[in-house]
Amino acid sequence: MAVVPGSLDRVLTDYHLHLRPDDTGEAGEYFTEENVDHYLAAAEEHGIDELGVSEHVYRFTESLEIWRHPYWEGQAIDDIDAYCEFVRSTSLRLGIECDFVPGSEERIANLLQRDFDYVVGSTHFLGEQGAVDDRRFDVWENIGDPDALWSTYFRWQAELARSGLFDIVSHPDLVKIWGRDRPGPQRDLRFHYEPLVEAISESGIAVEISTAGLRKPVEEIYPSRAFAEMCVEAGADFALSSDAHAPDQVGYGYDRALELLSSLGVERICVFERRERRLEPVGRGGADAGQVSSSEEAGA
Ligand SMILES: [Zn+2]
Ligand SMILES: [Zn+2]
Repeated sequence: MAVVPGSLDRVLTDYHLHLRPDDTGEAGEYFTEENVDHYLAAAEEHGIDELGVSEHVYRFTESLEIWRHPYWEGQAIDDIDAYCEFVRSTSLRLGIECDFVPGSEERIANLLQRDFDYVVGSTHFLGEQGAVDDRRFDVWENIGDPDALWSTYFRWQAELARSGLFDIVSHPDLVKIWGRDRPGPQRDLRFHYEPLVEAISESGIAVEISTAGLRKPVEEIYPSRAFAEMCVEAGADFALSSDAHAPDQVGYGYDRALELLSSLGVERICVFERRERRLEPVGRGGADAGQVSSSEEAGA
């Protein structure tokens, strides 16, 4: 993917978002101009210039060519081309959140042969062993040892990064989602991060800074500061998102994310268009340009 020089204007992005809650919601009810307007209004309120939607791949019937997990079979109802057409009729960027399923690379590539602006790559399930973020299919029931689980998860993420199928590796350390509800690894976390950071460095995939973790039991941004530091050292670029599933989650916790980026010395973030990426100075434009604002309490 090409990285081209950008402009001097500061930007905020929110690329990884969903127009409806997980599990429920008819496309006809949520893929509407009215609903998009709510998201656009929230973005404006938070000073977010670049807004895109990335629906879960498994909500489309076409995903069953990639994997046939019972959860996917229950969820795969909508038509992916109707989704693309709808998003292109709005001012939103067109993305998709696509799970990585090892062994299905070719079928994933086929499905992604559409005119997306970006593809967010995710590891939610470790195959038949279960999901890291869904208690209904809890992977901890099959891999009870935290070090074994963390090392398996980060090896999957590394493979995702190396596959070349995705523009962004999303919620990079999602395995920590349950926080203190699950035992932590004995080994230094950086030992577990290493394979993924190496794959990020080799592949050049963008690393998502996701404020979604702040809304989860772990109450932390994805990824951890230590992980982000390793990425900076490895020369990685970052993409900023909230993983919102409702308008009031757009730009959620962005002051914390901006503080993190600033403290890491990261001054530019990725902006995507038709799967080309460029780097733009990160921050709120307009009156407080150049500041990492801490006045978000004025918002929702
Ligand atoms: Zn996700
Ligand atoms: Zn998501």
